Amino acid sequence: MRLIPAPNGNEAKRVGPDRARLVRAILTAVASLVLMVVVSVLIVVPAALYVLPISPTTGSATLCLPGIGPLQRFQNSLRGGQDEQANIHEGVHAGQCRRFGASLYAQRVATPEGRLALEAEALCAEAAVLSRRGADRQSLFDLTVETLAVQYFSDGSVARREIALAVDEACSQVIGARLPLASQGLAEAP
Ligand SMILES: [Zn+2]
Repeated sequence: MRLIPAPNGNEAKRVGPDRARLVRAILTAVASLVLMVVVSVLIVVPAALYVLPISPTTGSATLCLPGIGPLQRFQNSLRGGQDEQANIHEGVHAGQCRRFGASLYAQRVATPEGRLALEAEALCAEAAVLSRRGADRQSLFDLTVETLAVQYFSDGSVARREIALAVDEACSQVIGARLPLASQGLAEAP
Protein backbone atom coordinates (compact mmCIF):
# COMPACT_ATOMS: atom_id res chain seq x y z
CA MET A 1 0.00 0.00 0.00
CA ARG A 2 1.39 3.37 -1.03
CA LEU A 3 1.93 6.11 1.54
CA ILE A 4 1.59 9.78 0.76
CA PRO A 5 2.96 12.59 2.91
CA ALA A 6 0.52 14.60 4.99
CA PRO A 7 0.32 18.37 4.29
CA ASN A 8 2.64 19.23 7.16
CA GLY A 9 5.19 16.73 5.91
CA ASN A 10 5.57 15.06 9.32
CA GLU A 11 2.90 12.38 8.99
CA ALA A 12 1.89 9.91 6.38
CA LYS A 13 -1.63 8.71 5.59
CA ARG A 14 -2.72 5.45 4.01
CA VAL A 15 -4.70 5.78 0.76
CA GLY A 16 -6.26 2.30 0.94
CA PRO A 17 -9.82 3.46 1.78
CA ASP A 18 -9.77 5.96 -1.13
CA ARG A 19 -8.73 3.23 -3.52
CA ALA A 20 -11.46 0.95 -2.23
CA ARG A 21 -14.02 3.71 -2.85
CA LEU A 22 -12.65 4.16 -6.37
CA VAL A 23 -12.95 0.43 -7.04
CA ARG A 24 -16.53 0.44 -5.73
CA ALA A 25 -17.36 3.43 -7.95
CA ILE A 26 -15.93 1.66 -11.00
CA LEU A 27 -17.83 -1.53 -10.19
CA THR A 28 -21.04 0.49 -9.75
CA ALA A 29 -20.47 2.20 -13.11
CA VAL A 30 -19.83 -1.14 -14.83
CA ALA A 31 -22.93 -2.64 -13.24
CA SER A 32 -24.99 0.34 -14.41
CA LEU A 33 -23.64 -0.07 -17.93
CA VAL A 34 -24.46 -3.77 -17.95
CA LEU A 35 -27.96 -2.96 -16.67
CA MET A 36 -28.44 -0.40 -19.46
CA VAL A 37 -27.39 -2.94 -22.09
CA VAL A 38 -29.71 -5.58 -20.63
CA VAL A 39 -32.61 -3.10 -20.54
CA SER A 40 -31.85 -2.13 -24.15
CA VAL A 41 -31.82 -5.72 -25.32
CA LEU A 42 -34.91 -6.77 -23.37
CA ILE A 43 -37.08 -3.67 -23.82
CA VAL A 44 -35.80 -1.16 -26.35
CA VAL A 45 -34.89 -3.59 -29.11
CA PRO A 46 -38.20 -5.53 -29.09
CA ALA A 47 -40.06 -2.20 -28.92
CA ALA A 48 -38.07 -0.87 -31.86
CA LEU A 49 -38.80 -4.03 -33.82
CA TYR A 50 -42.48 -3.72 -33.01
CA VAL A 51 -42.73 -0.19 -34.40
CA LEU A 52 -40.37 -0.86 -37.28
CA PRO A 53 -42.14 0.01 -40.53
CA ILE A 54 -42.70 -3.08 -42.66
CA SER A 55 -41.60 -2.78 -46.27
CA PRO A 56 -44.56 -2.55 -48.68
CA THR A 57 -42.87 -4.91 -51.12
CA THR A 58 -41.47 -7.58 -48.85
CA GLY A 59 -43.56 -7.58 -45.67
CA SER A 60 -40.34 -7.42 -43.71
CA ALA A 61 -37.89 -4.94 -42.22
CA THR A 62 -34.30 -4.64 -41.07
CA LEU A 63 -33.19 -2.38 -38.26
CA CYS A 64 -29.48 -1.49 -37.97
CA LEU A 65 -28.53 -0.80 -34.35
CA PRO A 66 -25.19 0.50 -33.05
CA GLY A 67 -23.33 -2.14 -31.09
CA ILE A 68 -25.88 -4.81 -32.01
CA GLY A 69 -26.06 -4.87 -35.81
CA PRO A 70 -29.00 -5.89 -37.96
CA LEU A 71 -32.33 -6.90 -36.42
CA GLN A 72 -35.02 -8.25 -38.69
CA ARG A 73 -38.78 -8.55 -38.63
CA PHE A 74 -40.89 -10.66 -40.99
CA GLN A 75 -44.66 -10.74 -41.26
CA ASN A 76 -46.14 -14.09 -40.29
CA SER A 77 -48.32 -14.05 -43.38
CA LEU A 78 -45.36 -14.46 -45.76
CA ARG A 79 -45.57 -17.69 -47.72
CA GLY A 80 -43.42 -19.59 -50.20
CA GLY A 81 -41.88 -17.26 -52.76
CA GLN A 82 -42.75 -14.18 -50.72
CA ASP A 83 -40.86 -15.56 -47.76
CA GLU A 84 -37.84 -16.36 -49.92
CA GLN A 85 -37.83 -12.91 -51.56
CA ALA A 86 -38.16 -11.21 -48.17
CA ASN A 87 -35.22 -13.20 -46.82
CA ILE A 88 -33.07 -12.28 -49.82
CA HIS A 89 -34.07 -8.60 -49.57
CA GLU A 90 -33.50 -8.26 -45.84
CA GLY A 91 -30.33 -10.33 -46.08
CA VAL A 92 -28.90 -7.63 -48.34
CA HIS A 93 -29.91 -4.92 -45.85
CA ALA A 94 -28.29 -6.91 -43.04
CA GLY A 95 -25.09 -7.08 -45.09
CA GLN A 96 -25.27 -3.33 -45.74
CA CYS A 97 -25.69 -2.73 -42.00
CA ARG A 98 -22.56 -4.76 -41.24
CA ARG A 99 -20.67 -3.19 -44.15
CA PHE A 100 -21.42 0.46 -43.36
CA GLY A 101 -22.06 0.31 -39.62
CA ALA A 102 -25.17 1.67 -37.94
CA SER A 103 -24.25 5.35 -38.21
CA LEU A 104 -23.43 5.42 -41.91
CA TYR A 105 -26.34 3.10 -42.68
CA ALA A 106 -28.72 5.50 -40.91
CA GLN A 107 -27.26 8.44 -42.82
CA ARG A 108 -27.91 6.66 -46.10
CA VAL A 109 -31.45 5.70 -45.16
CA ALA A 110 -32.13 9.35 -44.28
CA THR A 111 -31.49 10.67 -47.80
CA PRO A 112 -33.48 9.71 -50.92
CA GLU A 113 -30.28 9.06 -52.89
CA GLY A 114 -28.79 6.90 -50.15
CA ARG A 115 -32.01 4.96 -49.64
CA LEU A 116 -32.33 4.47 -53.40
CA ALA A 117 -28.91 2.81 -53.55
CA LEU A 118 -29.71 0.56 -50.56
CA GLU A 119 -33.10 -0.51 -51.91
CA ALA A 120 -31.89 -0.95 -55.50
CA GLU A 121 -29.22 -3.38 -54.27
CA ALA A 122 -31.79 -5.33 -52.23
CA LEU A 123 -34.38 -5.49 -55.02
CA CYS A 124 -31.74 -6.45 -57.59
CA ALA A 125 -30.67 -9.35 -55.36
CA GLU A 126 -34.27 -10.55 -55.54
CA ALA A 127 -34.28 -10.03 -59.31
CA ALA A 128 -31.01 -11.96 -59.66
CA VAL A 129 -32.59 -15.09 -58.21
CA LEU A 130 -35.52 -14.81 -60.59
CA SER A 131 -33.11 -14.20 -63.49
CA ARG A 132 -31.18 -17.37 -62.70
CA ARG A 133 -34.50 -19.21 -62.89
CA GLY A 134 -35.09 -17.91 -66.39
CA ALA A 135 -37.04 -14.67 -65.92
CA ASP A 136 -36.53 -12.06 -68.63
CA ARG A 137 -33.91 -9.50 -67.63
CA GLN A 138 -35.66 -6.57 -69.27
CA SER A 139 -38.89 -7.41 -67.48
CA LEU A 140 -37.03 -7.72 -64.19
CA PHE A 141 -35.37 -4.36 -64.78
CA ASP A 142 -38.70 -2.69 -65.59
CA LEU A 143 -40.37 -4.29 -62.59
CA THR A 144 -37.58 -3.17 -60.24
CA VAL A 145 -37.73 0.42 -61.50
CA GLU A 146 -41.53 0.41 -61.24
CA THR A 147 -41.42 -0.98 -57.70
CA LEU A 148 -38.99 1.70 -56.54
CA ALA A 149 -40.91 4.50 -58.27
CA VAL A 150 -44.36 3.47 -57.06
CA GLN A 151 -43.77 1.85 -53.67
CA TYR A 152 -40.67 3.60 -52.34
CA PHE A 153 -40.46 7.02 -53.98
CA SER A 154 -44.03 7.84 -54.92
CA ASP A 155 -43.46 11.26 -53.33
CA GLY A 156 -41.29 12.18 -56.31
CA SER A 157 -38.19 12.74 -54.16
CA VAL A 158 -36.15 10.83 -56.76
CA ALA A 159 -36.59 11.25 -60.52
CA ARG A 160 -37.50 8.13 -62.47
CA ARG A 161 -34.33 8.50 -64.53
CA GLU A 162 -32.24 8.43 -61.34
CA ILE A 163 -34.09 5.31 -60.22
CA ALA A 164 -33.45 3.62 -63.56
CA LEU A 165 -29.76 4.51 -63.41
CA ALA A 166 -29.47 3.17 -59.86
CA VAL A 167 -31.19 -0.07 -60.87
CA ASP A 168 -28.94 -0.35 -63.92
CA GLU A 169 -25.90 0.04 -61.66
CA ALA A 170 -27.07 -2.39 -58.98
CA CYS A 171 -28.66 -5.03 -61.22
CA SER A 172 -25.77 -5.13 -63.68
CA GLN A 173 -23.58 -6.38 -60.85
CA VAL A 174 -25.79 -9.34 -60.01
CA ILE A 175 -27.75 -10.10 -63.19
CA GLY A 176 -25.04 -9.54 -65.76
CA ALA A 177 -24.10 -7.11 -68.48
CA ARG A 178 -25.89 -3.79 -68.56
CA LEU A 179 -28.91 -3.40 -70.75
CA PRO A 180 -28.69 -0.96 -73.67
CA LEU A 181 -29.62 2.47 -72.33
CA ALA A 182 -32.08 2.99 -75.16
CA SER A 183 -34.06 -0.06 -74.08
CA GLN A 184 -34.35 1.46 -70.62
CA GLY A 185 -35.63 4.77 -71.89
CA LEU A 186 -32.35 6.29 -70.72
CA ALA A 187 -30.79 7.27 -74.03
CA GLU A 188 -29.32 10.75 -73.86
CA ALA A 189 -31.16 13.40 -75.79
CA PRO A 190 -29.38 14.25 -79.05
ZN1 LIG B 1 -35.53 -2.72 -48.44
